[in-house]
Amino acid sequence: MTLTIALSKGRIFEETLPLLAAAGIVPAEAPESSRKLIIGTNRPDVQLVIVRASDVPTYVQYGAADLGIAGRDVLIEHGGAGLYQPLDLNIAKCKMMVAVENGFDYEAAVKHGARLKVATKYPQIAREHFAAKGVHVDIIKLYGSMELAPLVGLADAIVDLVSTGGTLKANNLVAVEHIIDISSRLVVNQAALKLKYDTIQPVLDAFAGAVQP
Ligand code: ATP
Ligand code: MG
Repeated sequence: MTLTIALSKGRIFEETLPLLAAAGIVPAEAPESSRKLIIGTNRPDVQLVIVRASDVPTYVQYGAADLGIAGRDVLIEHGGAGLYQPLDLNIAKCKMMVAVENGFDYEAAVKHGARLKVATKYPQIAREHFAAKGVHVDIIKLYGSMELAPLVGLADAIVDLVSTGGTLKANNLVAVEHIIDISSRLVVNQAALKLKYDTIQPVLDAFAGAVQP
């Protein structure tokens, strides 16, 4: 039985390589240089499928992939239905934060009771965060370049991932609130875990043993 693992290109793929190696899995090609969406490995029974980061939970949920690696941000937005999430891999670490244009009085805006316009790629996380604070928000869904929104008057604030803060700084934005710490997790299709237990469990054990603190 073939084991299919869903990964996204870029940081998740790169940071997953050592974990795959610990499970004796070495990709035959690098997705950055290959245009293939299905990548073989040194193990004839293991293949990788390369999908958008936000599509990983969907492939695993429907069993098109048995395993996947996805950010906590993506998993919260997806909802996690049908997914077993046994392991925090401690890779692709960053923070989900609220940011505003330098000089915008966020505290006053929040206290005032007025509605705050919030642009984000993460409506679920943003909605929950502001609901818990009792702040009324209008969520404006964007697919990228959130940093632009406050600068052109589309929003008062953004909810976005921040790692070094370099992008915020370059766009005259400041982080004003930390929402959650983000890292990537292993997700497993629940039916596949039962059906392919003998193949999957050793991979889970190898990953668990290779996670860096
Ligand atoms: P796409 O770029 O295809 O629109 P994406 O931005 O979600 O999708 P990536 O940039 O590869 O894809 O991010 C994948 C995951 O890595 C995110 O879901 C998040 O968990 C994490 N991540 C995003 N940005 C950073 C960052 N700056 N530093 C560390 N981890 C990050
Ligand atoms: Mg990205």
